[in-house]
Amino acid sequence: MKDKLFAWIDNAQSLAVELETELTKRPAVSPESGGEGELDKCLFLESWLKTHGITNLERYDAPDSTAKGGIRPNLIATIPGSGDGRLWIMSHMDVVPPGEEKLWDNDPWTVMRKDDPPGARLIGRGVEDNQQGLVASVLAVLSFTKQGLKPNLTIKLLFAADEEVGSAYGIEWLVNNHGALFKKDDMVLVPDGGDIKGEFIEISEKNILWMRFATRGRQAHGSRPDLGENAFIAGSDLAVRLHHELSAKFGDHDPLFDPDYSTFQPTKKEANVPNINTIPGEDVFYMDMRVLPRHSTELLLAEIDRIKAEVEAKYRVTVTCSQIQLMQSTPTAADAPIVKKLSTAIPEVYHVTPRPVGIGGGTVAAYLRNIGIDCAVWTKTQETLHQPNEYALLDNILGDAKVMALLAVN
Ligand SMILES: [Zn+2]
Repeated sequence: MKDKLFAWIDNAQSLAVELETELTKRPAVSPESGGEGELDKCLFLESWLKTHGITNLERYDAPDSTAKGGIRPNLIATIPGSGDGRLWIMSHMDVVPPGEEKLWDNDPWTVMRKDDPPGARLIGRGVEDNQQGLVASVLAVLSFTKQGLKPNLTIKLLFAADEEVGSAYGIEWLVNNHGALFKKDDMVLVPDGGDIKGEFIEISEKNILWMRFATRGRQAHGSRPDLGENAFIAGSDLAVRLHHELSAKFGDHDPLFDPDYSTFQPTKKEANVPNINTIPGEDVFYMDMRVLPRHSTELLLAEIDRIKAEVEAKYRVTVTCSQIQLMQSTPTAADAPIVKKLSTAIPEVYHVTPRPVGIGGGTVAAYLRNIGIDCAVWTKTQETLHQPNEYALLDNILGDAKVMALLAVN
């Protein structure tokens, strides 16, 4: 069956170009980024799939009054298999805005084909992120159905809304409102992340904690520090202590990740006083913390509290900490069925040795992993996502489709 599937996919180049071109014409930019949402793109995809014989389609529309039609559509196509297992392939329909249009060689919403190095490719906003995965998943399914073949696994293609600015109307909404869609033994592939060779199978993410630290002291004239409490000095000491002490306390290494340790970085700094001769009474900075999943977030928060209390006592200031984002993710096991299947299928197509990796976070896989469903993030990517002149190699679209088809064969 493999040869038949691969031969069909090799001949599907024009279908890939057609689908990429039509999808790109319908800019599914989220309302938060100044767009209309995914409705036009979703309606087109639905009718295109029907035309090609994929008729088992369901829509799950998240209400969003700021989007066209008042909804953010999530579309599911089901292709029944002969066995009991189920394979989800989850891509997303939304795209990021083009950015500075003058950096593009062509209109970002009109797909251009080029055949010079690094290879035959399609250029346009969204062609790689995430239409490479989306189109590949469609071709994988059609390689069965168009030839009257049945996969062993039931294939569920999920075309989700709202990946780029959170997932409140996409997978997070689906998990919270239609969680029964997903079953314990389902396998999930998210073709939306990877590396240039197709070797990385992402199975784990660092926990992400973003925090804001607001230090309040007492403002005074620059010549009279004795009458004030310099919030900037206290805040600076706090930032340095958090960086060093947390790095030491949560200092484990895990070779799955790159870098292989937790990171605690002071990042954004808000302006304090506008003039040089005032001692600032307030100071605000932020930390971006990426923590190996083995470390408990409760312990981390307790340690932050301890350091904060020390700084408050030393400088006679008060510090208010607030969480901006906390994303915790349960890892998928390195020997989970989806990881094993990928590890077998990828070498058959790309002749590389895949290996499981962890990343700094965060992907939509976390929403599924957190409800106990194995989820691997994989694709062979040129990593041009979000850039001007974003492109997808045709070889990658077709190659990814072959890997996906192999996953469902047995
Ligand atoms: Zn993406």
